[in-house]
Amino acid sequence: MRYISTRGQAPALSFEEVVLTGMASDGGLYVPERIPRFTTDELADMAGLPYAEIAFRVMRPYVGGEIDDDTFRTIVRDAYATFSHDAVVPLNQLDASHFLLELFHGPTLAFKDVALQLLGRILDHFLKKRGERAVIMGATSGDTGSAAIEGCRHCDNLDIFILHPHQRVSEVQRRQMTTVLADNVFNVAIEGNFDDAQAMVKASFADQGFLNGTRLVAVNSINWARIMAQIVYYVASAVALGAPQRPVNFCVPSANFGNVFAGYMAHRMGLPVERFVIATNANDILHRTLADNDFSKRDLVATLAPSMDIVVSSNFERLLFEAYERDGDAVRELLERFQSEPAALAEAPLSRLRERFVSHSVDDATILEVIREAHHRTQEILDPHTATGYRAAECERGEPGVPMVTLATAHPAKFAEAVVKAGFPGVPLPPHMDDLLEREERYTVLTAELAEVQKFVAEQRR
Ligand SMILES: *Cc1c(COP(=O)(O)O)cnc(C)c1O
Repeated sequence: MRYISTRGQAPALSFEEVVLTGMASDGGLYVPERIPRFTTDELADMAGLPYAEIAFRVMRPYVGGEIDDDTFRTIVRDAYATFSHDAVVPLNQLDASHFLLELFHGPTLAFKDVALQLLGRILDHFLKKRGERAVIMGATSGDTGSAAIEGCRHCDNLDIFILHPHQRVSEVQRRQMTTVLADNVFNVAIEGNFDDAQAMVKASFADQGFLNGTRLVAVNSINWARIMAQIVYYVASAVALGAPQRPVNFCVPSANFGNVFAGYMAHRMGLPVERFVIATNANDILHRTLADNDFSKRDLVATLAPSMDIVVSSNFERLLFEAYERDGDAVRELLERFQSEPAALAEAPLSRLRERFVSHSVDDATILEVIREAHHRTQEILDPHTATGYRAAECERGEPGVPMVTLATAHPAKFAEAVVKAGFPGVPLPPHMDDLLEREERYTVLTAELAEVQKFVAEQRR
């Protein structure tokens, strides 16, 4: 399998190269040159299989033989053995046709574990094979950092440095990162805000001289392997609900669009999905684009669903590439215009998107109302991100006979602030984490100076 850039000007890469590379050299994102397709029999055969086996079958065409089958099976099995539920991503029925797909049973209680438990292991496999080591650098205000650390803590060939803004991350989120006391895990608290941390990571990727030739790897959601891993749970949940004989709908709490794009890929692989409902919080660029063709940046709003607080949806570019029928020049032109001024999609691509996607934006007051209402109706306490999905799914339900699957992207204990604001006493952490607040922490506080951070990374890596 070869991978090509959404902007049409970077070299095509193999799976191994694409996993180690991140962004394409022309500023675009890598996508598979050809989207593999399952027959209805192949899909039907997956019903009832263990999650790890479905994962192996769904991802195998994307790996394209670059990891042998036995090794890849083992990697997949190990990745999902870290989940605390036997079904890995169980379906929870809320009413006759509305289901929650619980993606939060991984080590850090949010859906990013599904991709990062796998990505760390795949990276480690390729690095070992090449006899190389690599450094991962990332900035986080929450979910991604802890999921990346958990995904890499056992990887011999990787050192991971996660920067977070000092004293500006919730205690649970900080402790999920800083209590991982592995030799290859380095938490850095930056005396500054998230943007300062992010800017230092970006600058380090732009000029990697400080690492003397060691590879720097990105594990943010532009990495193709993360999308690939997320395709699996769309297939697994849909076949459990009767696909391919029966279509389903999905509702996805969205920010950078990696999650819902994976759903779209599942659809292109043959899964019958009637509609995707995109749920956003007040940071609603996706909703404005779909509803009003207003593809423009707005100032960031801090919401009760902080992991969805974004200005730009980086992975939306991958969908635009499909909507523009894989015309890299058109995508490049649109994205370059969008960087500097409000943009709009051409008519034909926009109507293609509207055939399959609808959207709904949910503000903070509504998030609190939904947490109360959903509890009243179903006894479930939703996390604030999932709450945006619940409301969007109820509003955009579509055909009554088609099951609606709302993706539950985080465990409510992880975002207790919103749950308490909604009037609940809080939610206990699950048993395997109930001593989190007593565990030993380890992190280094540094000033927001690039040279100091880079010196620390260069000296500490093994
Ligand atoms: C990252 C995240 C999202 C947004 O996912 P995208 O793939 O960026 O659209 C939603 N909910 C939670 C809890 C997250 O951590």
